[in-house]
Amino acid sequence: MMQLNCPWCGARDESEFVCAGTTHIARAALNDTDEAWGQYLFFRENPKGVHLERWRHAYGCGLWFNLARHTVTHEVLAVYRMSEPPPPLPEYEQPPCPEPNYIWTPGYWSYAPAGYYWVPGVWAAPPFIGALWTPGYWGFISGRYGWHQGYWGRYIGYYGGINYGHGYVGRGYWGGYWNRNQFTYNRSVTNINTTIIHNTYIRNVTNITTYNRVSYTGGRGGVNLQPNRAEIAALRQPRTPPLAVQQQHRVAAMNSRAQFATVNRGQPQTVALARPLAPERRQPVVTQVRVQSRPAAPAQQQLERAQPQRPQEPIRPTPQPVRPMEPARPAPQERPQPQPRPEPQERREPQPQPQQRSEPQPRPEVQPRPEQRPAPHPEPPRGEQPR
Ligand SMILES: [Zn+2]
Repeated sequence: MMQLNCPWCGARDESEFVCAGTTHIARAALNDTDEAWGQYLFFRENPKGVHLERWRHAYGCGLWFNLARHTVTHEVLAVYRMSEPPPPLPEYEQPPCPEPNYIWTPGYWSYAPAGYYWVPGVWAAPPFIGALWTPGYWGFISGRYGWHQGYWGRYIGYYGGINYGHGYVGRGYWGGYWNRNQFTYNRSVTNINTTIIHNTYIRNVTNITTYNRVSYTGGRGGVNLQPNRAEIAALRQPRTPPLAVQQQHRVAAMNSRAQFATVNRGQPQTVALARPLAPERRQPVVTQVRVQSRPAAPAQQQLERAQPQRPQEPIRPTPQPVRPMEPARPAPQERPQPQPRPEPQERREPQPQPQQRSEPQPRPEVQPRPEQRPAPHPEPPRGEQPR
């Protein structure tokens, strides 16, 4: 008879356990679309290979835990508890910005069945001019920690209030902004060699949260900073998921034993990479956001307003992905953005709208910019779950 390892009781007979299917599924939010609810309730991956499952020691201690099982061999690769929060963020220095227009992507804890591992911070070439990086974050959802994936977009979204440092103070990004086609760096929080990078300014940045090294939001000891209205609205902005080079970067960290918290006790061997990630161009698209209760901030707008404006040159407005919002009412099929590929129709529902801005808005530009070559867009599998 097979035995399973309860994380609390040790090896017990298989018959004491009950399997409850796929684990790490982010629950849809109340105001989510029917499609998102359908995904949450009915759609599951059925991989040939490693499958992460929820199990319960029903006829023992009664507690839930996660289990990684190979669906072909039935080998149990790991058993781990439900609700271990990620370790604190390690402190580290940012390597100097390698060349103009690179964007800092802060390091973070990711998760594999063997536990949390540190993905080093690294400079990345943004997928298109105007792109900003919204880091991912861990949130506490229905008793578990789930990972909300980071993304590229024209607006900085909600990232759980986590203070990732170097301009990511918990809300918005203060390490620089796009001035037309040039990224302009704030040297007070960014490591800049001014012989290489000339577009800079100095502006002091205040942290908006006091949770300096806490790496997750919600739950016990987590950051408690709710998204504001603009962040909620920013959820519907076009966004680009992490680039292939970023995924490869994460996988490389996962394959390095010294990056695991169990090995390094929270002090990873490599906290940041001096070498930047290779460029990869992509176009922003509207992707369905699975976890909608915790969204995103057009900090860029605030930033632009906060920056000293240079004396006017003829303004060619930076293209805006979607016209920032109209008064809250069901907006049927508003689609100003050229889509790189056909997408399934998405039902729009009344949503909380961001504050109306009184300033005249630059007209959204409908033409894709030359540097944004529409690339065939491999969308991540729907089932990519927050953990
Ligand atoms: Zn047990």
